[in-house]
Amino acid sequence: MFSKEKIDELIKNHPKLSAIINTEETFWQNPLYNNSDITEIEGLKIDNILDAENRLKRFAPYIAIDFPETAPERGIIESPLKEISNMKISIENLLDMSLEGKLLLKCDSHLPISGSIKARGGIYEVLKHAEDLATKEGILSLNDDYSILAQDKFKNFFSQYKIVVGSTGNLGLSIGIMSAMMGFKVFVHMSADARQWKKDLLRSKGVNVIEYEADYSKAVEEGRKQSEKDPNSYFVDDENSVSLFLGYAVAALRLKKQLKEMNIIVDNNHPLFVYLPCGVGGGPGGVAFGLKLLYGANVHCFFAEPTHAPCMVIGMMTRLHNEVSVQDFDIDNLTEADGLAVGRASRFVGKVMDSILSGIFTVQDDVLYRYLTLLADTENIYIEPSAAAGFPGLKWINSTPEGKKYIESINLIEKMKNSTHIVWATGGSMVPRDVMQSYYKKGR
Ligand SMILES: *Cc1c(COP(=O)(O)O)cnc(C)c1O
Repeated sequence: MFSKEKIDELIKNHPKLSAIINTEETFWQNPLYNNSDITEIEGLKIDNILDAENRLKRFAPYIAIDFPETAPERGIIESPLKEISNMKISIENLLDMSLEGKLLLKCDSHLPISGSIKARGGIYEVLKHAEDLATKEGILSLNDDYSILAQDKFKNFFSQYKIVVGSTGNLGLSIGIMSAMMGFKVFVHMSADARQWKKDLLRSKGVNVIEYEADYSKAVEEGRKQSEKDPNSYFVDDENSVSLFLGYAVAALRLKKQLKEMNIIVDNNHPLFVYLPCGVGGGPGGVAFGLKLLYGANVHCFFAEPTHAPCMVIGMMTRLHNEVSVQDFDIDNLTEADGLAVGRASRFVGKVMDSILSGIFTVQDDVLYRYLTLLADTENIYIEPSAAAGFPGLKWINSTPEGKKYIESINLIEKMKNSTHIVWATGGSMVPRDVMQSYYKKGR
């Protein structure tokens, strides 16, 4: 906990902090946001994302073999982008307002292999590490057909190595499933928030799951300690990993293609709004970074956090980044949105977001369930609570003084009728039926 004096001083400098400390739903507009085109931030540019995309293409023939559900897409792990017009009408009725523009859902909830946005960054990082090891050993070259990686020879080779990660659940699933399939020894350190079925599923695949009574930060710390003891062990650092971040950023290239195929224009007269659920920051940060490189001033990215785990908004607002945790303000970090139950944000991501993120809003748990159920009823799409966090962004932007202020600040009022809004649904398809049924009932 911070001292009362310290908290008072921070509130004086950042008035919105007071509502956040009271766990009220809040909208924060980023004062450092620079609505312009970008080519590079913190040394990262489009070439880095293209490099990641090419790596995923090299691995695709292998993935298509070991994960046959990806065969129709030839081993490329991607999710649909869907227009959800029925949901749009229902939201308009629910909130008694009209939503300008088109409403789309990015269904990372239905990404193959691990059913969440973590199938982007998490799997990418495992593949990159495997490639580094195998090329260094001289058993793989970048020009090979990577389908050879499905052979026992490679699984035996990777079995000498360990991969370790700390997670609230979904990162563990992605890293665990992919690493175990490739032959690695995997250790997933799970925080108290992690759902039982995620731990059971991982154990069934031969993954070592270590459970903690404490939150995500503790699971990461213990994972890091375990990994440091062993030179053959690799720690996936969710808080600082550039490679994880670039894996997520590839989503932007894919999304651009999908928008084009749907004849949806994003330009000076057709703004794009994207609402992304945020935990430690890597997933939404990577996607936002990629989109900003591609669309510049024409895309507006907002993060969504639970009212009880608002680590990124506190970190960015105070500019203290990972030097503060929500617990410093006596916020409990207890939320049903397990994928977002993070008390301390990534410093690396916060810094990259400083000038490109439009803002952050916070969401109460019961609101997540309401949207989850509404989406199931109107579109027959089932997502997990964390993944519904983006929906309230529509209300903030369309019908609140805070949203209006943002729209005015960048001269978008006349253009809103041409706008496109993408709610990023970050997880859900692996949730067992009975668990999903209980989510659905809660939303009713
Ligand atoms: C992990 C996760 C997020 C957020 O990703 P971060 O990289 O932790 O910010 C959002 N939604 C779901 C379902 C997740 O599992």
